[in-house]
Amino acid sequence: MPLQFYNSLSHRVEPLDPLVPGKVGMYTCGPTVYNFAHIGNFRCYAFEDILKRTLLASGLKVRHVMNLTDVDDKTIRGSQAAHLPLRQFTQTYKDAFFQDIRTLRMLPADVYPAATDTIPEMIQLIQTLFHKGIAYQAEDKSVYFSIAKWPAYGQLVKIDREAMRVGVRIKMDEYAKDAMADFALWKAWDEADGDVWWDSPWGRGRPGWHIECSAMSSKYLGKTFDLHCGGIDNMFPHHEDEIAQSEAANGCPFVKLWMHCAHLMVENQKMSKSLGNFYTLKDLLAKGYTGREIRYVLIGTYYRQSLNFSLQALEEARGNLQRIDAFMGRLKEVAAQGAPGEATPGQKEYFAQARERFLKALQDDLNVSAGLGVLFDFLREGNREMDAGNYSRQAAQGALEALGVMDQVLAVLEPDAQEVQVPPEVQALAEERQAARKAKEWARADELRAAIEQAGWMVKDTPKGPQLLRK
Ligand code: AMP
Ligand code: ZN
Repeated sequence: MPLQFYNSLSHRVEPLDPLVPGKVGMYTCGPTVYNFAHIGNFRCYAFEDILKRTLLASGLKVRHVMNLTDVDDKTIRGSQAAHLPLRQFTQTYKDAFFQDIRTLRMLPADVYPAATDTIPEMIQLIQTLFHKGIAYQAEDKSVYFSIAKWPAYGQLVKIDREAMRVGVRIKMDEYAKDAMADFALWKAWDEADGDVWWDSPWGRGRPGWHIECSAMSSKYLGKTFDLHCGGIDNMFPHHEDEIAQSEAANGCPFVKLWMHCAHLMVENQKMSKSLGNFYTLKDLLAKGYTGREIRYVLIGTYYRQSLNFSLQALEEARGNLQRIDAFMGRLKEVAAQGAPGEATPGQKEYFAQARERFLKALQDDLNVSAGLGVLFDFLREGNREMDAGNYSRQAAQGALEALGVMDQVLAVLEPDAQEVQVPPEVQALAEERQAARKAKEWARADELRAAIEQAGWMVKDTPKGPQLLRK
């Protein structure tokens, strides 16, 4: 089956048909670095990571560009409130972002262009629009995109052209659909911008947010490219305006396939900075959850469905991952110490089929739930087989390899080193319990087991001795 995805532009599931066979150009709107990203933002990046990993696992080469919005209304306001130069202010959040994506096991993009490093390209793009008569400079000296001059405006969201208010302008980066108007490409400097400005043919100023992504995507992926992703809140005005600017300037289609993920919600409201109902990654790590547990929750729901976030969901993720860890531990033990011998043809066939079914689920518009279904069926069947003593070393090895293939996309299977570090006090309790067992002081051993459980750990007695697992 070919890879197929829901295209927000055509409102249909379509096969992915790369411009250059075997290669995919992918642009994902990155963070606005004015604050720590919240896990709603990371839901979006997690969806994009699953998409990229699915493309790679399908044998495609991916060129991935993610921008960093380091100049816009929000970053300027933030730097002023912090009394810091813009560059210094945004650097803190850029660094935090890179650390967070590592914690969440996301593959890095090939390029992370910063808006402030791409100003000449933006000016160039605006000039093209200006010369074509689609952009104009208003009395306030800012340059606007005239939506009346571009009849193709409104491809992603339904626009009521009758209600269009010709000549009305909006300078803010973010606005609602009913405030649709000529939007700013270049914002003339005013006092509120402080020392943030660049020279341009229209005087001092700074770019609007939307032109940033048009310039950065084309610079690194070409005027037409395959895939553009973001959260659904980016469809209007951000992506709508990107399409208008790019297609009007370049005279060719901008993006073949647009993909948008639904929101991460908290108690039925979008998780967002402005509502104050958000968790950063740091908040959740401080509560004792790990990057892969958080990742598991973020990837577990189909990306076009909103995901209701709760600590309960993190607890469930922890339980599921422990089941997987225990299964992998068991497989590793059989692979190392089980009966020597080949996997049977039936077992080999079963492993190959599981890998294939998993990948097919993901290739079908990223159906992660079906993929996880394949994984848990695999786990149940594997445990049954091992209970019955049917796995030889090679069979266990084959099962581990199949899991490894699934994990190329999921990236949740192996625990991180710090996850399995047992706190010294728990280690001491376990040693005391072991000593009590040796001395046949069973009541004391039970007490110590309870104390270990109280501390959030479990003891599993294995042939190699007691093993500590997170509860
Ligand atoms: P921003 O830093 O606000 O530009 O957002 C970065 C990305 O996160 C954008 O693609 C947004 O659409 C996405 N995003 C913001 N809030 C949420 C949310 N609650 N759920 C999912 N995605 C979100
Ligand atoms: Zn963007």
